[in-house]
Amino acid sequence: MKPKLLFSNTYFYRFDQKQWESKKPYPPYGTMLAASIMREAGFDVSLFDTNLAKSPLEINTVLNTFKPDYLIIVDDNFNYLSKMCLTVMREACFELIRLGKLAGCKVFVNSADATDHFDKYLQHGADVVLLGEAEQTLVQLLNNDLQNLETINGVAFLKDDLITQTKKTNSVEVFDNYPLPAWDLVNLSAYQTIWQKEQGYFSLNIATTRGCPFKCNWCAKPIYGNRYNSRSPQSVADELAYLMNLGATHFWICDDIFGLKPGWVKEFKKILQANKLKPRLKIQSRADLLVKEDTIQDLVDAGLDEVWLGAESGSQRILDAMDKGITINEIEKSTKLLNEKGVKVAFFIQYGYLGEQWEDIQKTLSMIKKLLPSDIGISVSYPLPGTVFYEKVKAQLKNKQNWKNSNDLDMMYRGTFSPGFYRQLHKHTHRVYRKEQALRNLANTSIKTALKIPYLWIREQLSTRKMAILLNRELRTNQI
Ligand code: SF4
Repeated sequence: MKPKLLFSNTYFYRFDQKQWESKKPYPPYGTMLAASIMREAGFDVSLFDTNLAKSPLEINTVLNTFKPDYLIIVDDNFNYLSKMCLTVMREACFELIRLGKLAGCKVFVNSADATDHFDKYLQHGADVVLLGEAEQTLVQLLNNDLQNLETINGVAFLKDDLITQTKKTNSVEVFDNYPLPAWDLVNLSAYQTIWQKEQGYFSLNIATTRGCPFKCNWCAKPIYGNRYNSRSPQSVADELAYLMNLGATHFWICDDIFGLKPGWVKEFKKILQANKLKPRLKIQSRADLLVKEDTIQDLVDAGLDEVWLGAESGSQRILDAMDKGITINEIEKSTKLLNEKGVKVAFFIQYGYLGEQWEDIQKTLSMIKKLLPSDIGISVSYPLPGTVFYEKVKAQLKNKQNWKNSNDLDMMYRGTFSPGFYRQLHKHTHRVYRKEQALRNLANTSIKTALKIPYLWIREQLSTRKMAILLNRELRTNQI
């Protein structure tokens, strides 16, 4: 008889206050996909979804009733939240490992953090850490019944108390043969209730590609690496149709870069149109890929509603230092073209990169004021293993090398300014942005919102004064 497999993930929205309060949870796509592949291979499979759980202890109910032989913790590696390698989630995973072992399971772990720090996970009791892309390694491991681990690529394990690691797995290039993720194994109605109540619509996530071929030098890609493989437009359209039948109308396409393969979006839109499917799509892309009107029109025809661009900085000097490969001009042009087509454009902004000075920060603030994105996500540079940036600053890293949660935003290396300065800058940028946004939308706003503008203005003025005081203090003490 084939062994019973319990799948789980490591992310708990409730442990990440900022994400929990934003009330936009997505099911663990990568976990559901791995579970589905193993179910198709003939295993008896169940899934404990941590995303909406209150505590790792909740897994005990499933361990006691399903009585699995294996606990397989596969993070949703398509979700950028997993790529942050947050310590609060790492500790939750250690607890899941402990509970799995107590229940007599063999425990496997696969995640960006476990790939980077497999020694920690093995020391906390995991039997095997799967390095990089998990699905094929998992099939081999279970078919081999954990024998001859040295012959399987992409694993780390303890042998005679010594950590042994084999070569990372080759990436899978064609995914159309994979089944749909096991959507039936998660409580979709719990997600739907939150979305409907808080946002007024139901959004689900879907992945159409793996990897990213660009080389921004701080971007870690421990799972999918520097390749780019796409599913066929037909298989993506089929999955969308399936999910729309379940009530979703909006989709976050969680690819690093959506629709990079030439001709892909054009074919995709034709299939959607032929099947009268009208999803609203949120994607992530790059400014340099969105400067042609016909590319944008194809995306709009496919249902594009919102694009998140890695704008990062308003200073070309900093973009170049990051090897970002885009220009300020491209950020401006793509934003303008997308806005003209009615698409919302949101920016990821990053402060504190090596060499960034106050003049560069001012350029970023000016860019935000000028282009007024529909939303902003602000971070400070975060050194993750495997990146050029990490190598440059690793000598400065002390005990803390990971953020606790996604709102931590600690500068873990020596930036131009102090960590406190960047925390204030984060708040200041939001204040500048909110006031600017309120002013720009004045014509279309309600009286109630318009009355808030003086308050937003005063808050921005006070914040500007505080930044000036902090800057002077930093200039004096750090002799910048
Ligand atoms: S384009 Fe995005 S995903 Fe690709 S390397 Fe740059 S930051 Fe990373």
